[in-house]
Amino acid sequence: MSNNLLTVAYIVASALFILSLGGLSNQETARQGNVYGIVGMLIALVATALSLDVTTYGVLASVVIPGAVIGAIVASRVAMTSMPELVAILHSFVGMAAVLVGIANYLQESIELTPVESTIHEIEIFVGVFIGAVTFTGSVVAFGKLRGIISSKPLLLPGRHLLNLGMIGTCVWLGFEFLTIAHLSGLQSLLGMFAIASVLGIHLVMAIGGADMPVVISMLNSYSGWAAAAAGFMLSNDLLIITGALVGSSGAILSYIMCKAMNRSFLSVILGGFGEQTSAATPSGEKFEGNVTTATIADTVQLLQNAKSVIVVPGYGMAVAQAQHTVSELTKLLRDRGVQVRFGIHPVAGRMPGHMNVLLAEAHVPYDIVLEMDEINEDFPKTDVVLVIGANDTVNPSALEDPQSLIAGMPVLEVWKAGTVVVMKRSMASGYAGVENPLFYKDNTRMLFGDAKKNLDAIVAKLVQLSEASVELRQLAFDHVPVTGRVLNLLHES
Ligand code: NDP
Repeated sequence: MSNNLLTVAYIVASALFILSLGGLSNQETARQGNVYGIVGMLIALVATALSLDVTTYGVLASVVIPGAVIGAIVASRVAMTSMPELVAILHSFVGMAAVLVGIANYLQESIELTPVESTIHEIEIFVGVFIGAVTFTGSVVAFGKLRGIISSKPLLLPGRHLLNLGMIGTCVWLGFEFLTIAHLSGLQSLLGMFAIASVLGIHLVMAIGGADMPVVISMLNSYSGWAAAAAGFMLSNDLLIITGALVGSSGAILSYIMCKAMNRSFLSVILGGFGEQTSAATPSGEKFEGNVTTATIADTVQLLQNAKSVIVVPGYGMAVAQAQHTVSELTKLLRDRGVQVRFGIHPVAGRMPGHMNVLLAEAHVPYDIVLEMDEINEDFPKTDVVLVIGANDTVNPSALEDPQSLIAGMPVLEVWKAGTVVVMKRSMASGYAGVENPLFYKDNTRMLFGDAKKNLDAIVAKLVQLSEASVELRQLAFDHVPVTGRVLNLLHES
């Protein structure tokens, strides 16, 4: 393929990636956005494979084909609840790729460059390997934390900011050495920086607590974009630069939006738990005294039967229980009875941004009744019943009421302001952030213990049974109305 054709293919792929990002910003257009992304990536892959740079297809096929097969198998098998882990480990691959491309590029001797070009190229390599190493190890630690292999508690070493500064300073010094030394003699500095940046990546993410993990995932997503862009500079590949910049900047914007949603300072999160001292010093497992009122299926059905307005607040537990289809059925049943049903979605509900929206869309819950936290928070006092389905941290009043709480200041769905709150979960266990939840002890809270799917199935079955019984009763009553009564009724209706 000629270079001109390659440029055209790259421009088309870049445009498709931009359209893809635009599509993904909205639930209705997300599917379309995905299709744009897939087509863009296919064009990019085929065009690169056919470009003049590729001279041997054997090596390319031996890595691309197994990679594609493994990727397809893993992606098709992964449960929605494990998606963030998969995303984290995929980010680590991008980081590692940037490191390997950087080192290989440095060792490649054939490039004819002027001294200025050579310096620029070496800066690209050094920066690319640095970002790649931080992304690689940071993502591996994030994977471990999400998988539960590593504790989600922040590791706050004494003087950790000085430690980080020291490591960054040493990397800068090694960079200076790398640029000033004769070509190929700088490998030692490059590998030294790689080792230090790897430790920095581990340390930065280890210092971040469970409650801030969503931001870390999207930050690492952003880093992986910058690592890809750096690889693009090293390889002089425009499409890789554009794609990397798109991923890098959209990831950074998403992280910023999420920080705002959690009332966290963007800088403090990316610097690794900056300002966490107060929270860490306070035991997160503060015990609450008080009575817990439990509810049965029958109690919940009765509450729902008498309600005019219901808000469903789903959380990670709904994903674990795979209860979204039953939730959708329940919604339809209640709406058919004239109940106003809406959903309140916290920006960090679940284990990744948009987790709940994806599940509800999969179960065909209408988009227009799925509202963001800001859109629905003021409506709780006017709501009869709130069904909290496997959500915990995102409905925890201590975020607003307890300044010592680990999640202090994080905006939450203020469900306790509704008439009655039914919390569906299996036990009194705390959520991801490991913080006790005083909501469970409130007077207007009813705890419906057990697997969310099983309980919802039972609720739906009971409601169906009751509505069938009421239809039968109406039919029976109708059949027994005397003929004259029916004639009068018909006359009245006409
Ligand atoms: P939480 O993790 O706070 O709580 C989920 C609750 O679901 C648990 O308390 C658990 O209680 C319950 N649960 C689990 N399985 C079931 C089941 N089968 N049936 C019923 N209940 C079940 O979830 P939230 O969605 O409220 O909050 C999200 C948390 O995750 C936040 O802390 C957020 O910061 C963090 N996070 C979010 C990410 C994101 O990008 N959105 C990424 C990473 C972390 P029990 O065991 O008693 O059943």
